Amino acid sequence: MINLAIGIDIGGTNIRVAQVDSDGRVLKKIKRETSEDIVKNLTDAIDELITENTAGIGIGVAGVVDSKTGVVSRSPNLPQVEGIDFAGILKEKYGIPVRIENDANAAAVGEKFAGAGRRFDDFVMLTLGTGIGGGVVIDGSLLPVAAELGHITVEAKGRKCLCPNSGCLESYASGRAIVSEVIEELERGAESLLKGCCDGNIYKITPEDVYNYALEGDTLARETLKNAGKYLGIGIASLVNIFSPQAVIIGGGLVGAWNILVNEAIKEANKRAFPELMKNVEVLPAGLTDNAGVVGAASLVLYSDITR
Ligand SMILES: [Zn+2]
Repeated sequence: MINLAIGIDIGGTNIRVAQVDSDGRVLKKIKRETSEDIVKNLTDAIDELITENTAGIGIGVAGVVDSKTGVVSRSPNLPQVEGIDFAGILKEKYGIPVRIENDANAAAVGEKFAGAGRRFDDFVMLTLGTGIGGGVVIDGSLLPVAAELGHITVEAKGRKCLCPNSGCLESYASGRAIVSEVIEELERGAESLLKGCCDGNIYKITPEDVYNYALEGDTLARETLKNAGKYLGIGIASLVNIFSPQAVIIGGGLVGAWNILVNEAIKEANKRAFPELMKNVEVLPAGLTDNAGVVGAASLVLYSDITR
């Protein structure tokens, strides 16, 4: 029975390749560092996992994927993949269908297929990690658009982003933004328990550290997360006004900080979005956690009726 797919998640630090079954379960998984020779790393891993029951290969990549050619046209966090036609290369080598999407779009498909999106026809997915990604599902189908939701403007004269814009949501509410804000404050001499974090090396602070210190009552950590949450809420309000979704599903590493960051975001979104639209919106965490990237990618093949 041809009921398996290979899901590939190409991220800034690691490439994950997994064999996924038609229920969205990961049967086998291989992790490699994202090195210079990405294509060889990928094909080595696929060779280990592919069987005669593999229906196809799905790829999620952190970047803008040209919807016509499948080529990664821009990837600020992963410039070495720009210009590579992964789908074309793998299709030719393995002779099975290959689908490629931006990683957050793939995550949205994964949530619809096997996660928190199953019970919604219309939802917006936000992935809060080092950066912020997005995907939009309307009438049960992934909108075939870039959905770079991390790059909507939330502050007109705001911080410079890695994209040409300033004041992007990603520059205020991503893991990278939270950490750099904390470090800036510490460099300015702010009083905070975070000074003692990471053996005194403040440049090693992670978003998880900020959250843990916030839970211990540290004011700088707490205020930084709340500020990020406020900007996240500004972004969510715009998304609710545009898409009138039934749900906003939030995934990625920062979901761990839910009860400070996202609760603040919900408060802010409630103040700003059309109340008639916001009252119907559930804001909830993603259902897929550890394997979200590979299951999302595999679901591009396994659940192809939601992508067009
Ligand atoms: Zn941007």
